[in-house]
Amino acid sequence: MLGGGHAHVHVLREMGRERFAAAEVTLVTPFARQIYSGMVPGIVAGHYQADDAAIPLAPLAAAAGVAMHETAAVALDAARRQVRLADGRTLGYDVLSLDVGSDMDRGRLPGAREHAIFVRPIETFLAAVENVLDAAAERPLDIVIVGGGAAGVELALAFQFRLGLLGPIGARGHEAGRVALVVGGERVLPGYPEAVRRHAEQALDRNRVTLFRDTCTEVRADAVVLASGARVACDAPVIATGSEAPRWLAGSGLALDGQGYVVTGPTLQSGSHPEVFAAGDVTTRIDAPHPRSGVYAVRAGPPLLANLRAWCSAPGLAAAAATEGAATALTSGAPLKRYTPQARSLNILSCGQRRAIAARGNWVAAGRWVWWWKNVIDRRFVAGYVLPAAPAGAPAAPRAPVTPSAGTR
Ligand SMILES: Cc1cc2nc3c(=O)[nH]c(=O)nc-3n(C[C@H](O)[C@H](O)[C@H](O)COP(=O)(O)OP(=O)(O)OC[C@H]3O[C@@H](n4cnc5c(N)ncnc54)[C@H](O)[C@@H]3O)c2cc1C
Repeated sequence: MLGGGHAHVHVLREMGRERFAAAEVTLVTPFARQIYSGMVPGIVAGHYQADDAAIPLAPLAAAAGVAMHETAAVALDAARRQVRLADGRTLGYDVLSLDVGSDMDRGRLPGAREHAIFVRPIETFLAAVENVLDAAAERPLDIVIVGGGAAGVELALAFQFRLGLLGPIGARGHEAGRVALVVGGERVLPGYPEAVRRHAEQALDRNRVTLFRDTCTEVRADAVVLASGARVACDAPVIATGSEAPRWLAGSGLALDGQGYVVTGPTLQSGSHPEVFAAGDVTTRIDAPHPRSGVYAVRAGPPLLANLRAWCSAPGLAAAAATEGAATALTSGAPLKRYTPQARSLNILSCGQRRAIAARGNWVAAGRWVWWWKNVIDRRFVAGYVLPAAPAGAPAAPRAPVTPSAGTR
């Protein structure tokens, strides 16, 4: 299992309840916890601590009898069934499950790699946010968010709200700072219903976030430069311009789409290697295209679990070996589940203070109650995957009942 993403935390939890018997399962993921991204703006705004949004991965892995390597995959050779890790090791696998999310290209925007904060990986982003807020408590800061999508809008409002909490600072009681949003076009939230865009622009206006309906062409140490030639003073540039496919997949041999994402089908198997499963942002469902969001990654958890379990059952592996390259329906009698993502998902955008905008299809609502609704949804999701810490000196987790299987990594 590569990545401790939103689908894999479900697989781990359920493995803890019923293991894959003879399987030797290894989780490779660079951070000790998975941060639930939906709560990140709330952490920036100060409504949550990072721990409130964190799912520790080691207890989940331990309860599931899964070995965990806190490192990242840096290369994959699908033909030889090998993964190379950042710590220099190479792991072989019989079955691979990918939930590594998406990445951000740090080289695309000149100067960004040197001067900017990227919203991904989320762990690194949160550490940088702490530094920004510490500095903001000392002197007025100009924060510029680049990217007018959901993450950009939510973070602009979250930073503005948080700066407001800092109150007047310094001897002269200066305002704590200003937040600007470089939209990257005429309007925020491309692809969202008109009512959502209107609510969001009203919230940005109400909270005095300055909008630049322009694109960012360069990031400098003290400013961001726009296509119009304008220079916007900036102490903390935050890049929220959407994500890309992880580059290390490029040489893997897996079927990838034009943007480099792993092509999967209804059983969440790779389009080219049936022993490879994938879920979440790293995939493109050729048969059922949908936006890349946490909601879809979460929903992919149960079918991924079912299909990994079926595939890793001894008969399943025997069948896969027997029908190398075409094993979608297993002779074990346990056909792989076909999963169709929902056509429409509920989207809730937080607006800095405890207000939010919700949308599902053409239904749109906004207000305090929406924020509290989101709060319940998000906290319930995280709580569902946080295992109680074993009391000090407690014996190791009892082995969960096993399901016959063999050779899974
Ligand atoms: C600020 C922000 C707010 C967001 N808010 C929302 C929201 O409210 N609702 C919503 O639906 N979506 C939201 N999103 C989008 C959402 O974060 C993603 O769609 C979602 O995280 C995808 O889930 P995933 O499981 O595919 O990947 P991720 O959640 O990114 O998890 C990937 C996992 O893989 C690990 N990993 C990464 N690289 C490697 C590697 N090379 N090897 C091994 N492991 C690796 C990571 O550490 C992580 O544990 C938000 C995104 C951002 C940035």
